[in-house]
Amino acid sequence: MKFVYDFTEGNKDLKDLLGGKGANLAEMTNLGLPVPPGFTITTEACKVYLGSGEEPVALRDEVSDHLTALEQRMGKKLGQADDPLLVSVRSGAKFSMPGMMDTVLNIGLSDKSVQGLAKQAGDERFAWDSYRRLIQMFGKTVLGVDGDLFEDALDAAKKAKKVAVDTELEAADLKKLVTKFKKIVKTEAGRDFPQDPREQMDLAIKAVFDSWNGDRAKLYRRQERIPHDLGTAVNICSMVFGNLGPDSGTGVAFTRDPASGHQGVYGDYLQNAQGEDVVAGIRNTVPLAELERIDKTSYDRLMQIMETLENHYKDLCDIEFTIERGQLWMLQTRVGKRTAGAAFRIATQLVDQGLIDEAEALQRVTGAQLAQLMFPRFDEKAKVEQVGRGIAASPGAAVGKAVFDSYTAVKWSRSGEKVILVRRETNPDDLDGMIAAEGILTSRGGKTSHAAVVARGMGKTCVCGAEELEVDTKRRRMTVPGGQVVEEGDLISIDGSSGKVYLGEVPVVPSPVVEYFEGRMHAGADDADELVEAVHRIMAFADRKRRLRVRANADNAEDALRARRFGAQGIGLCRTEHMFLGDRRELVERLILADTETEREEALKELLPLQKTDFVELFEAMDGLPVTVRLLDPPLHEFLPDITELSVRVALAEARQEPHENELRLLQAVHRLHEQNPMLGLRGVRLGLVIPGLFAMQVRAIAEAAAERKNAKGDPRAEIMIPLVGTVQELEIVREEADRVIAEVEAATGTELKLAIGTMIELPRAALTAGQIAEAAEFFSFGTNDLTQTVWGFSRDDVEASFFTSYLEKGIFGVSPFETIDKDGVGKLVRDAAKAGRATRPDLKLGVCGEHGGDPESVHFFHEAGLDYVSCSPFRIPVARLEAGRAAS
Ligand code: ADP
Ligand code: MG
Ligand code: MG
Repeated sequence: MKFVYDFTEGNKDLKDLLGGKGANLAEMTNLGLPVPPGFTITTEACKVYLGSGEEPVALRDEVSDHLTALEQRMGKKLGQADDPLLVSVRSGAKFSMPGMMDTVLNIGLSDKSVQGLAKQAGDERFAWDSYRRLIQMFGKTVLGVDGDLFEDALDAAKKAKKVAVDTELEAADLKKLVTKFKKIVKTEAGRDFPQDPREQMDLAIKAVFDSWNGDRAKLYRRQERIPHDLGTAVNICSMVFGNLGPDSGTGVAFTRDPASGHQGVYGDYLQNAQGEDVVAGIRNTVPLAELERIDKTSYDRLMQIMETLENHYKDLCDIEFTIERGQLWMLQTRVGKRTAGAAFRIATQLVDQGLIDEAEALQRVTGAQLAQLMFPRFDEKAKVEQVGRGIAASPGAAVGKAVFDSYTAVKWSRSGEKVILVRRETNPDDLDGMIAAEGILTSRGGKTSHAAVVARGMGKTCVCGAEELEVDTKRRRMTVPGGQVVEEGDLISIDGSSGKVYLGEVPVVPSPVVEYFEGRMHAGADDADELVEAVHRIMAFADRKRRLRVRANADNAEDALRARRFGAQGIGLCRTEHMFLGDRRELVERLILADTETEREEALKELLPLQKTDFVELFEAMDGLPVTVRLLDPPLHEFLPDITELSVRVALAEARQEPHENELRLLQAVHRLHEQNPMLGLRGVRLGLVIPGLFAMQVRAIAEAAAERKNAKGDPRAEIMIPLVGTVQELEIVREEADRVIAEVEAATGTELKLAIGTMIELPRAALTAGQIAEAAEFFSFGTNDLTQTVWGFSRDDVEASFFTSYLEKGIFGVSPFETIDKDGVGKLVRDAAKAGRATRPDLKLGVCGEHGGDPESVHFFHEAGLDYVSCSPFRIPVARLEAGRAAS
């Protein structure tokens, strides 16, 4: 096996073997761009090392061969005393990973060769600056010395000299600093800084290998679901120097604006600097455009290279470059990160430039980005006072009064105040407060902290880990940088998409993308914004490509109409339980309490017209499109008064000797219906079987509503869905009754209704016996919420707040199975049930309702599983359409 590749030997498609950085360095080399020569040690070598604890035998020799070739090419030897070849040792896995060792620059410098470098460059200051950087980086990343010790020593040197920036330190100062740094290494690492250049290089290579298994790297991989066995590559790259004086420098650039997508000159440049000085912000950088003035030749060359890269990668690229005494060098490129809005714009721009086609354009955007663009946002034109920045944990723009405990959050929100719950970190006791708040702000914790996970689950705006904020929950206040104090009740604004925290009330504007979907802004109109144009076009690409249909979960005409505007092709789930609430509660109580058949029938008779009106409105809103109505699902006790409240009422009435016969009967009913595990209790089809006439009444209401719409020349397409079926026998009994009721309505109204009857597949047993169930069902709708609960044995209402955060931290799963479908478990049942169902009934219609229907990754899964449609909440419809299009292209 070959373990080392020269930059001339690789290419961009070898990321698995050479890592992202190595593959792209090779690609640039072969494009003829100026890349300092070097070579890459493969991920395979890393894997052997990590597996056996030793570097593969052949590796040392191969590295020696490549190093010799490099030395010959450069005409000097690594660390050569009078004219040293210096190299950087750079980590580079397939995916870039925080927590891994980055890079050590200037390898090859020693007490001797630093003199040679000084002489060759004719610049003593430069040589000693490079040496102190080597000891600093090597000490920190290879020998594990606390980096602050070096930083502090550097600061002390600047202070002693009374200068502000490191370039003002002179050779003599830097020489002293080197001595100091070496002492730090000796004390902290218990060894001398190695003077042998090859030893420096070998130790750095090993450190890169070892960093693959650092704690933070491992944690990151678990959370991002990056396999642990990929390993990292190591790049050895001959050094070029941006710190050789004012005609040298280093910079970063984008081939177009990563925020807007516009083509132009975007980037930063720093004269007389090396490596990460640009991003580290130690000195002020200048905008890239200034380079034209500083060094026109290099600038023109850079522009030319950027164009070459864009045409070659057919995408936005980001770049690291260095200029050494007027000579431009490329040190890194990759397809660049961009904002959600820019992703849409860039994709359509590239289509217009003829660089990519529609299918490829769909791969350049994601549903998550679209979702991000649909949140309301803070008005960009507003004057703001930013006081901190944390992790963008759950998107949205929230404004409210700061409160520092959940009790106050609940109390204030009950009295109509908008509040932001501010905590150091949240725990399960904060749940009520989180629900009551507009948004959540914490000063500790990351993307998997309790606050972040729970907020995302609730779709609530959250910024977490804003560390500069000092939250004092005892005194109900927080101190912001600069010392200003935010007291309980002061207005603050938080942006869950950027992580920014502001004082005061920042005005919120609706997203133009939502305005567009709502039909209040039109693509092609004179004033339409560029983003809307781009979204409009990408959605058209997606709709042309996708095979999955997208329906909405909607229970009323208003939601149905919105869903239609957003592109829904029907309703996949209309829940009927809300039709039993409000003023109708009393009727429901009568139904539940009925002692005799007549009493029950009377209650049902009164409910019937109410239900019917609901359906007429819904069918009208969705005229011409399918509407799946689910018969009553939740346990009955949910429709009865709260047990404590009722007991109090009974006790009071008793004490006052008032008549309370009804309350007493109600209380008895509540006791009778009380269940330890209502989720597994008397609900769904079980209710229909136990309460005579209930399902028949609902079916009749649907059928009569459909008949009425038909007679009004409408096109109602109702489908009746039976929930929580576990065995075909349940379905057969309900079906027989439903068929009879429908026939009666058809006869009475003289219309033919063609109502489809199907079932939800939401219990493992239903999935396992899907072949039998399909005999009595014309369609299946996978209820993946309940299916996930029952397959995992997780109570959805409880787990997210209790142990999911620790599961996520431990990496047991990267994302809650209620958010993204668990493909191996729940998904397997879906796939198998779909297959078995279709074997029984080839034209069986298959859909999914539940949160997963609007989740990007899950949509791809449902596409692959061969379902006909997904159903999701109205606001998720564009996301589902887009992802269905992406899945099909
Ligand atoms: P990261 O993955 O953190 O970007 P890099 O390997 O790209 O790490 O290196 C960090 C910095 O050092 C970058 O600014 C890069 O341009 C610079 N650098 C790396 N290798 C060299 C080199 N051979 N000569 C000059 N600068 C280099
Ligand atoms: Mg880095
Ligand atoms: Mg880099």
